[in-house]
Amino acid sequence: MVHGIRCIGLLTSGGDAPGMNAAIRSVTRAAIFNNIRVKAIYRGYKGLITGEIKEFQTQNVSNIIQQGGTILKSARCAEFRTPEGRQLAYENLVREEIDALVVIGGDGTFTGARLFSQEYNVPIVGLPGTIDNDLFGTDSTIGYDTALNTIIDAVDKIRDTASSHERLFFIEVMGRDAGFLALNSALASGAEAAIIPERETKVDQLEELIRNGFRKSKNSSIVIVSESEVTGGANGLAERMRREHPEYDVRVSILGHIQRGGSPTAYDRIIASRMGVAAIDALMDGLRNIMIGIVNNEIVHVPLAKAIKDDKPVNEQLLGVLQILSI
Ligand code: ATP
Repeated sequence: MVHGIRCIGLLTSGGDAPGMNAAIRSVTRAAIFNNIRVKAIYRGYKGLITGEIKEFQTQNVSNIIQQGGTILKSARCAEFRTPEGRQLAYENLVREEIDALVVIGGDGTFTGARLFSQEYNVPIVGLPGTIDNDLFGTDSTIGYDTALNTIIDAVDKIRDTASSHERLFFIEVMGRDAGFLALNSALASGAEAAIIPERETKVDQLEELIRNGFRKSKNSSIVIVSESEVTGGANGLAERMRREHPEYDVRVSILGHIQRGGSPTAYDRIIASRMGVAAIDALMDGLRNIMIGIVNNEIVHVPLAKAIKDDKPVNEQLLGVLQILSI
């Protein structure tokens, strides 16, 4: 065995995302296919520290590709942020004879992974599992497409009541630091505008919206808003709107956790399956401390440091498209 990897540990961490199970299935089966053992670690880094670890066979991942959430559970683990916590985690890796880790999560998960691999020289490959799509180096993260479709489904329903009552709806979606969900769901649901974190410091987006005279031809409107401490999200903007423009009948809908749930879309299942196989290939090829991404429908390898640190820009031209289409 040239690559020297006999056993991998596999965990999901941070916010759960639809398609994580498809990724777990793929990593597990690709490893076993290549005669590499798989140890499933429960509750993210927490399970690594407490030793909540179980060997998986191929049947442990049967019948999960269609399920949302993660069968491995996810947790936030403050202890892993400390050197003492990471040392306990390493001791468990050694005890379990785990040679490498595959971690599925977002930028926090990768930040922890990078630190751990630097301290203990453990080969780690990350799979981007987050609904926010905020990781640099991949066109899409696992879970993003499903969340986008869930949002569109909800907005279509809200539109029925918005138009019946001629109301202005601010609909809040997830993505505190990244406007991908807001911008693309606004486009796909025919909303009038999107208010996104990338523009928060550049311009007063609410004022801009009024100035552009949104939907002059109709009384009902839908504006998709990223959650935000700066604008106060949908509630903050609605309050401001009521104060400054009492002529509008304003309502708020915060979509919340439904955005994380549900059966993954075909697209998320497919990228999760491809990325899982690519993770095992990468480890066998001697690659370390990278994230698997997909760019232009091709698998790519992105250094973890880049995936975490580099900002992934939203395509702000889409705001122009939205404006044109909302006349
Ligand atoms: P999402 O984008 O969906 O929120 P995430 O992976 O960014 O997912 P976090 O809660 O930020 O979610 O991180 C997951 C876990 O990674 C944390 O609970 C912690 O155990 C670990 N982690 C995050 N940042 C660090 C860090 N700086 N050092 C060590 N571990 C970290």
